[in-house]
This record gives sequence, C-alpha cells and structure tokens, in this order.
Amino acid sequence: MTTAVAETWTGGDGGRTAVAAAARQVVKAYGSGETRVVALDHVDVDIERGVFTAIMGPSGSGKSTLMHCLAGLDTVTSGSIRVGDQEITGLKDKKLTRLRRDRIGFIFQAYNLLPTLNAAENITLPMDIAGRKVDRAWLGRVVDTVGLGGRLKHRPNQLSGGQQQRVAVARALAARPEIVFGDEPTGNLDSRSGAEVLEFLRRSVDELGQTTVMVTHDPVAAGYADRVLYLADGRIVDEMHRPTAEKVLDRMRMFAPAGEPHRARGTRTAGAVAGSAS
Ligand code: ADP
Repeated sequence: MTTAVAETWTGGDGGRTAVAAAARQVVKAYGSGETRVVALDHVDVDIERGVFTAIMGPSGSGKSTLMHCLAGLDTVTSGSIRVGDQEITGLKDKKLTRLRRDRIGFIFQAYNLLPTLNAAENITLPMDIAGRKVDRAWLGRVVDTVGLGGRLKHRPNQLSGGQQQRVAVARALAARPEIVFGDEPTGNLDSRSGAEVLEFLRRSVDELGQTTVMVTHDPVAAGYADRVLYLADGRIVDEMHRPTAEKVLDRMRMFAPAGEPHRARGTRTAGAVAGSAS
C-alpha cells in the first residue's frame, strides 16, 4: 500500500466520510545531488473529517514532514495538498499564514505557554492577537471538555505538565479550527499526564467533532486514535482502523527496521514491507 485515500474506507455511518485535508502524489525532498533526501515519496492520503488519525513510523520515516506539509507549515517539492476545498500548494506566504491562523490548530511537544498569563489568557491569546471575537459558548464547551474549569486563573508554573498541555490543547481548539495537528503532544509527559491529554483529545473528537491528526511513536497514544497510518521510508505502508495499543505494537514489530527499539528478532525490514506491499 502506498496510498491511504478515503475511497478505500467509509466511516462508522457506512457513508463516505468528508475529507478535511488531502495529499496527492506528494514528494518532499531536501537537499540536492548526493545529499538529496526524499522525506515523502509520492504520498496519497485523505484525512477524514471528525476522525482522530495517528501517524506512526520509525524515526526518519517522514511523519513530521507529512504533518508539516498537510498543515501548510512546509512546502512540497511536487504534488498537491488540499485543506478542505482549498488547494494550498503554491499559496503565497501571506495567504498560507492566514490559512494556518484561521483554519488550523497546533499542539507541539513543548507547551509554549506564556508564563505571565493565566490559563484562560493563554487559551484566548491567539484570538486576541488576531483581533477575533471569542465565541464564549464554544470556549465554555472546550474548557468543560478539557476539565480545567477550576484552574483557569492559574499561571503555567502553578499547573502540572499534563494540565499545561491541556491548556495548550484548549488553546488549539478555542478558535474552532478545521483540523488540529499534534506533533508528539504527549512526548514530554509521564504516562498518567499523557493519558489525561489523550483522553481529552479523544473527547474533543467524540464530543466536539474535532478533526485531529497526531504524530506519535507511542503505541499507547496511537491506541486512542480511530485510524493509524504507518510510514516507512517516506511512504504510507499500512493503515489500521480502530486500533488498540496491543495491535499497534504488533504492527510496529513488523515494520521497525534494523536498529529500531521495537524490532522483534527475525521480522522483515520496513523497506521489504514497503516493496512487497506496493
Ligand atoms: P520523522 O518525523 O518520521 O522522524 P522526518 O519527517 O523528521 O521524520 O524526516 C524524514 C527525513 O527527512 C529524514 O531522513 C530526515 O533526516 C529528513 N529531513 C527532515 N527535515 C529535514 C531538513 N530540514 N533538511 C534535511 N533533511 C531533513
């Protein structure tokens, strides 16, 4: 398999799921000549609306690059990316910046909260900077879902790591983005705090209908998703629906190349799987 487009899968209602973002034949190469690295190799993927998608794969397989290209944080070498109905390939910087600001939310490993602002102020900061009116009813729902009601007046240094990341997630959701992208959002957290954040991401999909894409190398984190895409050598080599941590771990053992910590003795390499599956 080298593609993961929606035609091959329909959602739980049996109908075709609307697509929030799509990549078609996307190539992303860095450098040139002998130092050229192909980070994405003709990737086709549909990100379904209202679905929690995890992107997994060994280190260097192209996970972050795919996320950055889908989110308009990075340009592609060839191919096209769509966010909703908008073709973003070739958009000028200003339009791309506006699209990211208005339609996309980001959660990174580092919480990036301002220490002098309390949780509530951090959550609304991007909208305040953009001069956008805060939808108080929506914000109330986000805050209820995130379970931070009693801590909105706290500054980041009065919050645990998990609570700070939940503030960062609430900030990403506050402007009602079409898609939220997370790059290892629980990478800095212990397992309990990580679970708090993942449960919140899960609830934001189930209760708020939030389309969410998360890059992770953690099978437990991927187990919270609806769908897992597996990358190897810049290609989508497999996908799984309704994953569990155990099923994800089993699949990773199949795909992990030599030297990767999850590789089980005697399993095939990622290259062999990609070659045989395409
Ligand atoms: P992952 O997120 O799966 O670890 P990345 O998307 O970060 O993988 O990287 C995919 C490949 O592209 C790797 O070989 C990496 O070294 C290369 N790469 C990523 N970013 C750059 C860059 N800015 N310049 C050169 N090579 C890069």
